[in-house]
Amino acid sequence: MSEYRAPLKDMQFLLHEVFQVEHLWSQLPELAELIDKDTANAILEEGAKLTTEVIAPLNRNSDEQGAVWKNGEVTTPDGFKKAYQLYCDGGWGSLSGDADFGGMGMPKMLQAAFEEMTQSASISFALYPMLTAGACLALAAHASTAMKTTYLENMYSGIWSGTMCLTEPHSGSDLGIMTSKAEENNDGSFSVSGTKIFITGGEHDLTENIIHLVLAKIPGAPVGPRGISMFVVPKFLVNSDGSLGERNTVTCGSIEHKMGIKGSATSVMNFDGAKGFLVGEQNKGLNYMFTMMNYERLGMGIQGIGATEVSYQQAVAYAHDRLQGRSATGAQNSDKAADPLIVHPDVRRMLLTMRSLNEAGRCFSTYVAKQLDLVKYSDNVEEKTKAEHLVALLTPVAKAFLTDMSYDNCGLGQMVFGGHGYVREWGQEQLIRDVRIAQIYEGTNGIQSLDLLGRKVVASKGQLFGVYQKEISQFIETHQANEALSAFIKPLQLSLTKLTELTETLLSNTQQDKNLVGASATDYLAVFGYVSYAYMWAMMAEKSLAKTEQDDFYQAKLYVGQFYLQRILPRIDSHIQAIAAGSEPLMAMPADLFIGP
Ligand SMILES: Cc1cc2nc3c(=O)[nH]c(=O)nc-3n(C[C@H](O)[C@H](O)[C@H](O)COP(=O)(O)OP(=O)(O)OC[C@H]3O[C@@H](n4cnc5c(N)ncnc54)[C@H](O)[C@@H]3O)c2cc1C
Repeated sequence: MSEYRAPLKDMQFLLHEVFQVEHLWSQLPELAELIDKDTANAILEEGAKLTTEVIAPLNRNSDEQGAVWKNGEVTTPDGFKKAYQLYCDGGWGSLSGDADFGGMGMPKMLQAAFEEMTQSASISFALYPMLTAGACLALAAHASTAMKTTYLENMYSGIWSGTMCLTEPHSGSDLGIMTSKAEENNDGSFSVSGTKIFITGGEHDLTENIIHLVLAKIPGAPVGPRGISMFVVPKFLVNSDGSLGERNTVTCGSIEHKMGIKGSATSVMNFDGAKGFLVGEQNKGLNYMFTMMNYERLGMGIQGIGATEVSYQQAVAYAHDRLQGRSATGAQNSDKAADPLIVHPDVRRMLLTMRSLNEAGRCFSTYVAKQLDLVKYSDNVEEKTKAEHLVALLTPVAKAFLTDMSYDNCGLGQMVFGGHGYVREWGQEQLIRDVRIAQIYEGTNGIQSLDLLGRKVVASKGQLFGVYQKEISQFIETHQANEALSAFIKPLQLSLTKLTELTETLLSNTQQDKNLVGASATDYLAVFGYVSYAYMWAMMAEKSLAKTEQDDFYQAKLYVGQFYLQRILPRIDSHIQAIAAGSEPLMAMPADLFIGP
């Protein structure tokens, strides 16, 4: 099995050439003094060392050994503890944390690149610090200063970890029906009771304390999602001097036996009147959780890219080595029994599909990370507002489209190996099992597509879509006269027109047909994603055109981008056609006829 190599060159191309971060960061007051090109590159190189040399070698065993539950305690796979210590010693947990509470305050664009490397190395491992980073974000944004002082520094340093406790046995996508409750005590704290399931990192042996962020309802709160509050419930209570106090009444009842990410402890957590502390105001819990989710959902997309990158690297190495059949144009390897797989158009189709979708996905996640940075750091009101709109619109796309493509891509990577991809040896089957969850958790991709079409596009009457559409149109206009770029601009323009017409049609038809949003959402998100990737390819091509003589890297960009536009982008037509059929084909059949004879 070839070893994972961090795609540093592509990451640096995106940061420095496509998105020109030096200029961007120099305009943002909090970042201007903090980071420059050399610092960013040094951080990426150190991140590559940690992930390729320390974390990646643990991935295979973590799948075989898994996390183990015994009497309420969870042991992580061999090597995780040591690797986690090195991760913390390197300060990686604090990379983009709030600088006032021990974080380094680095931009999300840089964090995103490091996250991808961690996900490539081992999704199971990456989930432990990832959930902590998410919990820190929610606390940094909504907790009181006293609460931040108590928890953030130890969470950034990795001494304590964090979780996100939303899901209950009967309440997954529909959090409004959760039953966990929190009753106020005389001292202002709360007693939190209920069972949460599927909690990532709910219990483990990596840290001395685990800080659970729990959603629960205070008696008398409004019914539904508006009655949910957020609480900090530490595994060990924290004394006023910051030392660890008594064990709280929160226990891990078991961990799940699951398809993949076996090294990640997916825990059943029982809260039996556990002492909790309200974060921010009552009944705002779900809003607060969404702060974290905008980051986490992008992180899920990045998780998908991380898995596909590994799948592609291994598949391409195999396609050069494995000898089967002869090229249709005559033997390429006449001194050997057969030609390598890479000569076959169908194998190239699989590899180019993976690469074109993954490089566009990396570009898209960097673009969304840029918007998150502008929301956080820009002091220009217009720029900040536009970025807020784009984050709202694009977050469900970043989560669902990237992970849908990644799952399909890992299937292609497996297929390049033929039967050898189905057996354990080459690692492809583990990638598929591990990456599958990214489509499911943090809100299923079906729910993401409803969020995009229903809550973002239709509810804003097309206003959020208009912000994005205008930006892409301006890009097209700026480069319209560039003949050399026309092979990228024309398909982008055509596909943007189709997406705009589709959006307008849906906006005017959803009133008449209440099932139309639900019936169209997944196909709509796919069209949106493919057109967004055409935009990403046009941006990457624009920076590559003049440099093809300088480095094959840029020539390859143009080949791969052209493949995308000619062979992948046309997929939008079938999705548009499916949407045009309306909700009738889905809703006509009575529910009881779904049950077979
Ligand atoms: C390994 C793993 C780790 C996880 N980690 C965490 C964690 O750390 N913290 C946490 O709180 N949760 C976690 N989860 C839970 C995860 O977020 C949920 O499983 C997910 O949100 C879906 O909820 P559900 O399983 O109850 O499915 P359901 O909500 O029952 O959905 C079932 C199906 O119906 C569809 N559906 C549901 N409602 C609608 C609707 N209104 N319209 C259209 N379609 C609908 C869904 O898209 C899905 O396809 C984890 C889950 C797993 C498996």
